[in-house]
Amino acid sequence: MSTLTLARVDCAGCGAAVEGELVVMANLGARADLRAALFSREINVLRCEACGRTAQVQRTSAFMDFRRRQWIVAYPDWAERHWAELAEATAMSVTRNLGLAAPANLRAQAPSWTVRVVFGLEAAREKLVIWDAGLEDLAVERLKLVALAGQPRWLMGRAWVSSVDDGALHLRLVAPDGAEGALTLPHQSLPTGPIPGVDELGLGLDPFVSARRLTVHPEPADPLSFDLDGRAHGHRNGEELRHVPQEG
Ligand SMILES: [Zn+2]
Repeated sequence: MSTLTLARVDCAGCGAAVEGELVVMANLGARADLRAALFSREINVLRCEACGRTAQVQRTSAFMDFRRRQWIVAYPDWAERHWAELAEATAMSVTRNLGLAAPANLRAQAPSWTVRVVFGLEAAREKLVIWDAGLEDLAVERLKLVALAGQPRWLMGRAWVSSVDDGALHLRLVAPDGAEGALTLPHQSLPTGPIPGVDELGLGLDPFVSARRLTVHPEPADPLSFDLDGRAHGHRNGEELRHVPQEG
């Protein structure tokens, strides 16, 4: 079963009201159209009828595949600084959904599911690209650490595998200042042994399997201001929300 929700936002270009459906939960095994939309980067993208501008709406979306036994929860990009708490909460929630609350047949296969927490839909897409190519995402994240080690500008930014072909992995890079880059790495560069000088102990410990755990310091989420759907107020902190304006 897939769940979509109707959203209404204001167009950033002309201000007109834009309506469309966003993914809350997508069963990718049953919805080839949603799987294709994730690959073509059209998930949660709304188009303004008045001016033609398109924009991707940030919200939390879950993608599961019962045949492949894959479960990805994609949180909004801005929530990445809370990765530690979200990874733990997601692991507990999936344990509940696939375990305690699930029918017996699903419960039996729960340990064989691959569960991942990602930030942004490009990162959700990346996981499918990696798995469809028959690769391990843990090995790919370790490869990023090795390949970007001498390039702090890219190491501190985001890096996603955008495609894999017979010979190589093609990465899209975005630096913290927004500059874009690209990197092609041959398959044989996937590391097999420990990476010298890198403490990678946490990489496979919870559903946030990402090189970013080494560069993004985890901050606790303020439950008052934190909206899991990511619909609003991602930029506001709890202090601002607690401040009640005085009537003049
Ligand atoms: Zn518009």
